[in-house]
Amino acid sequence: MADIIQLLPDHVANQIAAGEVVQRPASVVKELLENSIDAGGTSIKLIVKDAGKTLIQVIDNGKGMSATDARLSFERHATSKIRSAEDLFSLNTKGFRGEALASIAAIAHVELKTKQDQDELGTVIEIEGSDIKNQELVVTPTGTSLCVKHLFFNIPARRNFLKSNNVELRHIVDEFHRLALAHPDIEFLMYHNGSESFNLPISNYRQRVVNIFGNKTNEKLVPVEEETEVLKISGFVGKPEFAKRTRTEQFFFVNNRFIKSPYLNHSINAAFEGLIKDGSHPSYFLNLTVDPKSIDINIHPTKTEIKFDDEHTLYAILRSAVKHSLGQFNIAPVLDFDRDRNLDTPYDFENKKATTPSVEVDRSFNPFQEEKIQSKSNSYSSSYRKEPASQWESLYVGLESKGTKTENDFSEIQFESQPENESLFNGDKQVETTQRTYQLHNKYIISTIKSGMMILDQHRAHQRVLYEGLLKHLTVKESVSQQLLFPLNLDFSSSEMGILNNLKEDLEHTGFVFSSFKDQTIEITGVPINVPESEVSIILEQLISDVEHEVPDSNFSATDLLAKSLAKSLAIKTGQSLTQLEQEHLVNSLFACKEPTVSPTNKVTFITMNVDDFDKKFI
Ligand code: ADP
Ligand code: MG
Repeated sequence: MADIIQLLPDHVANQIAAGEVVQRPASVVKELLENSIDAGGTSIKLIVKDAGKTLIQVIDNGKGMSATDARLSFERHATSKIRSAEDLFSLNTKGFRGEALASIAAIAHVELKTKQDQDELGTVIEIEGSDIKNQELVVTPTGTSLCVKHLFFNIPARRNFLKSNNVELRHIVDEFHRLALAHPDIEFLMYHNGSESFNLPISNYRQRVVNIFGNKTNEKLVPVEEETEVLKISGFVGKPEFAKRTRTEQFFFVNNRFIKSPYLNHSINAAFEGLIKDGSHPSYFLNLTVDPKSIDINIHPTKTEIKFDDEHTLYAILRSAVKHSLGQFNIAPVLDFDRDRNLDTPYDFENKKATTPSVEVDRSFNPFQEEKIQSKSNSYSSSYRKEPASQWESLYVGLESKGTKTENDFSEIQFESQPENESLFNGDKQVETTQRTYQLHNKYIISTIKSGMMILDQHRAHQRVLYEGLLKHLTVKESVSQQLLFPLNLDFSSSEMGILNNLKEDLEHTGFVFSSFKDQTIEITGVPINVPESEVSIILEQLISDVEHEVPDSNFSATDLLAKSLAKSLAIKTGQSLTQLEQEHLVNSLFACKEPTVSPTNKVTFITMNVDDFDKKFI
């Protein structure tokens, strides 16, 4: 038989290896920033265009390279950081595999300019897809500048696979944050498409956190300090009242390296137990220092996981250190271990005054009159309950239920009985008392239909109803908003402000009224009719995170994303019990929609089961 094994040509082998190291623009950013940190730079500048798809450049004032080293640095397994396997155990650099530059050069156009302090002239090298195009002497400042253009130019499949600029930029900013937080002793600057995104001067750790996450972060931070034989902890946790809906402010660093550890994250959650709402995440910025011999850093370049020798001890120390800090700063009510937990006031009742119960009789109450709006409530669920008709209808004005219903294929879904059409006292006919909908586990609504029954997911169905209503508001650009009694001030980081700024006009079309929109604060004087004031910040936070993580699909648009995000935030949740009237309203509203079968994110909203199916089961 003929031989079938062939050696891969170098450029193919390099491209494959590059795939491991470079998955997206953010991977390049991480590798270049790490190299600059390893080179001892005290000022590092990151310049990005089109979320890194067009340009990524990192400029440092570190030690630079000699002409020979500059050339060698692009060879695979060329590293100045380790000489023998032994060195792996006393590692204090970020890189050591000597693969990053070789990989990046295999799949992009790269220009390196570098000069050592003692040299008069530096070196410039230009490489395209591993081919050296040029090398010469050049006038350049001490340090290194690495410029990466046209990433994945020779692997179109990879290039096409990149996500939208919002998503790729989010990944870049994440890497930038991680490294900047781990090194407050280095100045970091970042520019995107010509404008400054971050300017982080050398500072203490607290100031670094504040410079990244916005001025208002300062008042949120509670210091955590602890030193034991096995572990030193320093850093901050966020006060419980500032817990976020997303996990964007959770950072662990072990020996200056960012790591992800669900286990240690759990220990922080345990320390916050009872202090924050379910579904919220405490912020934390914690540096752990341990003996390098007691950890095993997974040396895969893209992984950030780590294995500790004695995880259980770390867990316990971390939890108690955080608990202690929260207690010391008077944030947790007690640290008395013998105390009966049942006697603690739940966090959300803490600041409420006790009120004397009173019996009030509404003399004008007429049980035969239709329910009227009674009071304005803060909580969505109660306001939703009290004003079902007005609230529902405001969301799908203009969507004529009858008209659209017949246009769709849902004509086969016929509801079993239609009491509205029958008069209440219909001769000798019995009064119609059949209940038409049932709620199952506060999650599904079951309705009988001619052919059998229909089971509807309340959260998804409501999302669909809200989504179509919001889209309508956004496209006709007329919306109803409710004026707030007092303006609401909300703080955001500069990158969050950037996202909100892009969506400002659309948000206004949904009913938001902004009286000021500058620096890191926005002032809101009006909100969409359906949005309770207390939820505004959560809704905007969710929106920002949806924009940052959105996966583009063919019909992607900012408007669509906004409508999806708001619908998700505002829709009634699983677990919420609904009155008979609300259930029926939901079913009717869903079938008044243009696309009732799926939620805005394309998940099934209801299923039907035929009597035949039941019959088969009863054989
Ligand atoms: P590694 O960082 O794992 O050693 P890289 O491919 O990232 O591998 O870099 C190869 C070598 O190039 C490094 O070991 C270092 O000597 C040199 N180098 C890379 N970037 C810089 C820089 N910004 N300043 C000085 N030297 C650098
Ligand atoms: Mg490196």
